[in-house]
Formats: sequence, structure tokens, C-alpha cells
Amino acid sequence: MYDITIIGGGIAGMTAAIYGCRSGKDVLIIERSVFGGQIISTSEIENYPGLSSIKGYSFALDLYQQIDRMNADKANDDVLSVRTEDNIIIIEGKKDSYKCRTAIIAVGTKNRALSLPGEEKFIGKGISYCATCDGAFYKNKTVAVVGGGNTALEEALYLSLLCKEVYLIHRRDKFSGENTLQKRVFESKNIKILFNTKVIGLHGKDFLEKIEILTERKSSDPISGSSYEQSYKNVENGHSQETFAEVLEIECLFTAIGQIPQNSSFSNITDLDENGYIIADETCKTRTIGVFAAGDCRSKELRQLVTAASDGAAAASEAIKLLNTQTTKI
Ligand SMILES: Cc1cc2nc3c(=O)[nH]c(=O)nc-3n(C[C@H](O)[C@H](O)[C@H](O)COP(=O)(O)OP(=O)(O)OC[C@H]3O[C@@H](n4cnc5c(N)ncnc54)[C@H](O)[C@@H]3O)c2cc1C
Repeated sequence: MYDITIIGGGIAGMTAAIYGCRSGKDVLIIERSVFGGQIISTSEIENYPGLSSIKGYSFALDLYQQIDRMNADKANDDVLSVRTEDNIIIIEGKKDSYKCRTAIIAVGTKNRALSLPGEEKFIGKGISYCATCDGAFYKNKTVAVVGGGNTALEEALYLSLLCKEVYLIHRRDKFSGENTLQKRVFESKNIKILFNTKVIGLHGKDFLEKIEILTERKSSDPISGSSYEQSYKNVENGHSQETFAEVLEIECLFTAIGQIPQNSSFSNITDLDENGYIIADETCKTRTIGVFAAGDCRSKELRQLVTAASDGAAAASEAIKLLNTQTTKI
């Protein structure tokens, strides 16, 4: 019987473990894959206060070593359900079941898929959701990244250092990612930006070989531009647009079109918002006493490392408060 069991070993879960262990509670953290969560897929982190630049992998490793030094128990299991019984929380995993007095759900999000025919078949065979993990396989090759937010820009920049050519495909006419990242992308010599463009087909026998794209543009516009000025001229001249279909021969398509929640297993003990995120305020309390939600899986405005870490600290502090009152009624 643990005081605190944490589901998910990303930054939210590991931060909760640090706070739980430091207050002398028995802590178990359950992770179904690799400890670190989304940080592992981040090449370079430059917006975490106090760390001007750190590789995602190093950051995850430091955190893991920190919880290891604090003697947090760790389990490698995929949690399938959580229920309450006689004031105890029971967590069922694929391998085992776990009992605890409080639980912190910190399961993050998963990658949004393009939802194109064949996508499933090409995952790991020309479709990737992580440039840091898979980029090295495509050294000096031509690849493409889909998306226009921070993640897509970061992925494109990372790949531009390894690959011969990187197409950056975005369905809108401007990026939503940070200006500093945009500037670096526009200045890159081997990133070809395709605004107003969608991927509509994936082709290949065993591996992805070609993608079909559809671009809305004025016929006289160049299909791509690698300079800041060129790209914005395309957007701002505002003439009627036409649609052009093209085929690009690439070795890998890196998809970075956002994240979606994976909270359905917890809907019996928490309320989910219209998008599927667990409803909890900044105390991270859910509708079940003793069950907390922390990090990207919680309903919130900003999903970042710093907010996930903050949630982990808040959730653990609330769990500790509850345990210390000795009146855990579930
Ligand atoms: C490519 C990329 C780049 C990013 N770059 C930055 C950046 O530069 N700066 C920044 O601030 N943010 C960045 N982010 C966002 C940031 O990484 C996330 O906001 C943060 O990592 C969320 O942490 P988390 O702990 O809530 O969730 P996650 O990191 O998603 O961790 C959740 C963990 O729970 C595990 N899990 C899920 N379900 C179960 C289950 N049923 N049983 C057991 N375990 C489970 C998962 O395997 C995962 O390890 C980036 C994200 C991506 C994808």
C-alpha cells in the first residue's frame, strides 16, 4: 500500500515523485514506456527557467536520476483502470495491480495522427512522430515535417542539420510557433516551406516513398521559399488562390500536428472536458477525493514543461496535505 502512486513518468509525474519522497511518503511511479515522456522527443529545451539550453534526453535522465536517488519505487506497467474500494484506490495495470491512499494521474498526451489511409502501416517505416529519436536514420536524405507550431519548427530545424533537404508543410499561411524559431527556420538554407499545403496521400510498398500534397496558391507564386520575405509575400498578396497537387519523393514524414489526450480510462473517477482533458484546477484535485491530475492530461491553457512541473508539485503537495490530515475518505 503506497501513500502516493503516480501514473506516468513524464516531467509532471517525476516532479510529483520528488515532492512526495521529500515529504517522507511512500511513492510509487508507474510508467508504461520510457521515463521522461515527451521530453525524450525534444531535441533542445531552451525555455525552462534556469537552464538556458539542455538536450531533452539529458533533462529526462537528470530527472530520472533525481527520483532514483530519492528512492521512489518504479514500475514498468501500462495502467488500464483506476477505481476506489473501501477508502483505498486500486490501480489495475496490464501486469499487476497496485493499492494506494492517493493517486496522481500524469499520463500526458499522445501524438495526433494525420488520419490518412496507410498511416498506421508506415509508422516506423517512413512515418515518425519524433525527429530526435529517428532523425539520424535519414542523414543526407530528403524528409518532410508536417505542422506549424513550436514542435514542427523544432523538428524541422533539428532535421535540417542532418538531412539534405527538409520540406516543412503547413496547412495555414503562417506558422503559430515562437518568432525565434520561425526566424531560424526562414534563415535555414535547406528547409523548404510549403504554406497553404496539406498532405493528402501516402504511397510506398513496404516503406513510405512518396507523399501527395495539395497546395492552395496563386499560380505565379513559387511553391516554396526559404527566406522570410518570400514566404510572407505569398501570404499577403491576397489574390485568388488555386489548388495544385504534387508528389514529393521523401524518405520520411515527421508528423508534428499536435497532441491529443488519452484519459478515457479515467472517466469513471474524473470528469473530462469536451476535448477529453481531465477537469481539475491548479490544485490538481479531481472530483474523486485522493485522485489528482497533473501535467498535459489536465484541462489548462498552456501545455509546457514548466506548467507540467508546476502541476506535479501542486498535485503532490495536495496529496501530502490530505495524507497528513489522516482523514482520507474516498
Ligand atoms: C517534440 C516536442 C517538443 C517539445 N518541446 C518543448 C519545449 O521546448 N519546451 C517546453 O516547455 N515544452 C515542450 N514540449 C511540451 C512538453 O514536452 C510537455 O508539455 C511536457 O513534457 C508534458 O509533461 P507530462 O508529464 O504532463 O506528460 P508526458 O511527457 O506526456 O508524460 C506522460 C507519461 O505518461 C506515460 N503514460 C501514459 N499513459 C500511461 C498509462 N496508461 N500507464 C502508464 N504510463 C502512462 C507516458 O508513457 C509518458 O511517459 C514539447 C513536446 C514535444 C512533443
